[in-house]
Amino acid sequence: MATARIDADTRILIIGAGVVGAALADDLTRHGMKSVTVVDQGPLYRTGGSSSHAPGFAFQTTGSSVMSELARRTLDKLDGLTLDGQWILKRVGGLELACDGERLEYLHRRHNLAQSWAVPSRIVSPEECGKLFPGLDSSAVLGGLHTPTDGVVKALRAVEWQARRAIANGARFYGHTEVTGFRMERGRVTGVDVGRTPPVPGNPSKGDQLPEGTSFLEADIVVVCAGLWGPGLGKLLGLELPMVPMEHCSASTDALPSLAGFSDEEEIDQPMVRHQATGSYFRQGGERILWGTYEHRVIPVDQSQIASPEDFARTQIEPAIHPLTWNDAKDGWNELRRLFPEANSCEPAEGYNGIFSFTPDGNPLLGEVPGIRGLWLGESVWLTQSAGVAGVLADWIVTGDPGVDTTSLDFRRFDQAHLTRSASIARASENYDEVYDISHPRNQTMQLRKFATTPFYVRQEALKAEFGTSQGGWERPLWYGTTKANQPAVPRDAWGTYGWSPSISAEARQAANGVGLVDRGAVSVFEVRGEDAGKHLDEILGSAVTLQVNGSAHAHLKSPSGGMAAVLTVLRTADDSFLVIGSSPEDVWHLRRKTPHSDTVTVSDLSSATTALALIGPDAATVLGSVTRGAAPAANSPETPVLDVGGVPARVVAETASGLGGWTLYTATEHGLYLWDLLVEAGAQHGIALVGDEAFTALRIANGVPAFGVEYGPRDNAFEAGLAGPSTDEGARPGHRLLVRLRMRSDLHAVVPGEPVSKDGCVVGFITSSAEDPASGHFLAFAWVDPEVAAVGAEVEISHLDQRWAACVERSR
Ligand SMILES: Cc1cc2nc3c(=O)[nH]c(=O)nc-3n(C[C@H](O)[C@H](O)[C@H](O)COP(=O)(O)OP(=O)(O)OC[C@H]3O[C@@H](n4cnc5c(N)ncnc54)[C@H](O)[C@@H]3O)c2cc1C
Repeated sequence: MATARIDADTRILIIGAGVVGAALADDLTRHGMKSVTVVDQGPLYRTGGSSSHAPGFAFQTTGSSVMSELARRTLDKLDGLTLDGQWILKRVGGLELACDGERLEYLHRRHNLAQSWAVPSRIVSPEECGKLFPGLDSSAVLGGLHTPTDGVVKALRAVEWQARRAIANGARFYGHTEVTGFRMERGRVTGVDVGRTPPVPGNPSKGDQLPEGTSFLEADIVVVCAGLWGPGLGKLLGLELPMVPMEHCSASTDALPSLAGFSDEEEIDQPMVRHQATGSYFRQGGERILWGTYEHRVIPVDQSQIASPEDFARTQIEPAIHPLTWNDAKDGWNELRRLFPEANSCEPAEGYNGIFSFTPDGNPLLGEVPGIRGLWLGESVWLTQSAGVAGVLADWIVTGDPGVDTTSLDFRRFDQAHLTRSASIARASENYDEVYDISHPRNQTMQLRKFATTPFYVRQEALKAEFGTSQGGWERPLWYGTTKANQPAVPRDAWGTYGWSPSISAEARQAANGVGLVDRGAVSVFEVRGEDAGKHLDEILGSAVTLQVNGSAHAHLKSPSGGMAAVLTVLRTADDSFLVIGSSPEDVWHLRRKTPHSDTVTVSDLSSATTALALIGPDAATVLGSVTRGAAPAANSPETPVLDVGGVPARVVAETASGLGGWTLYTATEHGLYLWDLLVEAGAQHGIALVGDEAFTALRIANGVPAFGVEYGPRDNAFEAGLAGPSTDEGARPGHRLLVRLRMRSDLHAVVPGEPVSKDGCVVGFITSSAEDPASGHFLAFAWVDPEVAAVGAEVEISHLDQRWAACVERSR
């Protein structure tokens, strides 16, 4: 475990005593932090936030390995605990139902994901569904997915148990204490302004009362765990938090005959049920069924619509509850009645619209806020991941090492420069709407399309390219369809070939045999300039980047745990000036974070001012040479001169990401379109292929080039990821998986990311990316596998829906 990077006396203040804030206080005090204070505007512990009335469904299977891991950690932490003799977590298991063939097929996909993330699961028959949940009309279902280790968490008990332990370890919890402002000095948080809120009749607060007259609390670190109030607090900080509180219809039945005898209304004996096709879920609550649905119009909640502490005191209605909008709920309710005939006679006994938050990608917003030292976020976290997230945050704050790959959790994955409230609402609403939809890894968002386009977009659109979007909102050409496939399409199943076209391999083949043009315009480029720029880069990149002017090198920015925080290309443009090319907004942040304010080094973001095109393939040199005055550097040369390309100044850098070789040409955005037209015309006689993102992926997989953020991330070491370079000296860590490339035995078999790899019936790994091999027509995949099956030639199987397909390890380190 990494050692503490902050002093044990560091004053840490947490805003919010919901399940996230309480869990974080518990973990920070367990780390030995001596000054941990939690404030909440509401009474403790029924504060009126989402945790006060969450029904507590905790399913561990998600589309993401890290989210599943956080769920597992939450359940493991709460397992077996009791609060005053009452259970906190009951592992009643989960049951996902399928009522049509498409859903049944999808349950196999969910089962496979569960296998990949080591969540016990099995597909069960309709009869077994009926046995697992008596009263369910098994004739209405075709099958189910049973996940026996999932469970119900009593959120309020989890809050109080964790708060009590934190208090026993020295933390202070103040109820009725509202944070009204943040104080900062020289880019660092120094504390918060606070005010007292009125008591709520019938809801006495259990914690301490803030001493009369206190209006400011000093702190070295402030963590915002304010749940649905996050966007409002963000506004106080001048930040747009891409999260949107949503109303969510929930209700319960009256007592039902089949549940008679459960006198305790909290009692649960039967699995939690999800009926995703109708967007609804339900579980037992004593003699009743508690039910909720996502299948209604999206109802975003503005901060002004959330009851203030004064309103809460006056009405005693919790701020995270709005009245049930029955018109929204009734279709889902009727579906409950259909599946559960006993409920036929019931109208909702108790109903409300509960409020909790959604983000554009469904993942939390965690980490230190860029530009404000000491200010951290623990926002948009579900109960399911709460304790897991708190553990990660505590490790991150105290040691600098979060212990998991935070790429998909870190607030910085969203570029503040491109965030607006409307954009957050559009994307988060789509996520709410589709939360239970059948989701393919190649699904594309329909919101905010064309949000960001490269200069080449006009040409691509005219060619009727097929587009998708990247995380940063860039409209990206997936394939063009301008290159003829010239081979009959192999008949494969719909799931494997969803979002796929034979044009992809055609483009990749043509580039591999001649030349291809790739839009690389969605770049992150920043300039590091100043007297000490070279020294500074040398220090933070670990590996030496002592470059000649116009030289270049690849470098890994080290994370505090010694992993790779970012993979960068560094170019020296002058004695005191470097360009650093990354792949995401986070890269810029990492670099800035490591660059203290100084007169001798500055970092400037040049991303919007820069665009890029890559020419790849064996004929790239000929095409580039035909339009360039002066010689292009040799393939794989570290030289990066600025050349006159048809009159445009372009910095020419060896291209390595596709594995085909060639050059990326960086130029000012205003020259982009001119350069595109020039290269398309020059390449015409060589049959230049326009290479979309999917063909690029196919090429890199075929050429054995793993991608940062897809195949590997900050937790992986370079050796295990099969990367070349000095950092590979460290070797494989015992018990760690290795990245290999697999080849499907049959050309009929198209596999997709997240599918498990097994050997002799045991799961030994999972797929990170896949594509058809442009040369052979067989699917290839990168996968992390156990060392025992990582040798070239090892035979394995991939689980694809309800099939198991043979594959072999074709490339290993
Ligand atoms: C109806 C419903 C169903 C749900 N179902 C599930 C489910 O099945 N599974 C699941 O995993 N999750 C579910 N959730 C979501 C889950 O409950 C929440 O994501 C989780 O409880 C959020 O915890 P939190 O600590 O972040 O927020 P909260 O519990 O809302 O706590 C935030 C706290 O911050 C305090 N605060 C805010 N602003 C300030 C301020 N300025 N000063 C001081 N204090 C402040 C608030 O008073 C509040 O107590 C559901 C939620 C609802 C409402």
